[in-house]
Amino acid sequence: MNKRMEFTRKDKAKIIARANGKCEKCSAMLKTGEGEVDHILPCALGGEATVANGRLLCRVCHVEKTADDIRRVRKSDRQRDKANGAVRPKSALAGRKRPKPALTKTLPPRPMYITAGDGSAAQGGRE
Ligand SMILES: [Zn+2]
Repeated sequence: MNKRMEFTRKDKAKIIARANGKCEKCSAMLKTGEGEVDHILPCALGGEATVANGRLLCRVCHVEKTADDIRRVRKSDRQRDKANGAVRPKSALAGRKRPKPALTKTLPPRPMYITAGDGSAAQGGRE
């Protein structure tokens, strides 16, 4: 089934060195050991644990990215599960995001009259 590919220590070190102490997404400065190596293409979607598919992210970016990955993985899982009839256990990581309520925006009433010009704006064809 789905075996999770983790980066080797060597590849992790390469990614960390490339990132140069910064988050590779938002460029936040990271303290030693603070960054998290992320799969750009999640392994569940066929991404490999290679230097090319890895990047160093700060905690904030990684959490954001992971939530996004889970949504994408779930979608592809659903399609696969539909095909083979398997049911996957719910992931504790999956943060549920509620849909925003639709905004019913009403415009403020507009004045229905136009202030009459004083004549200076109206320039006819003068000779
Ligand atoms: Zn970041």
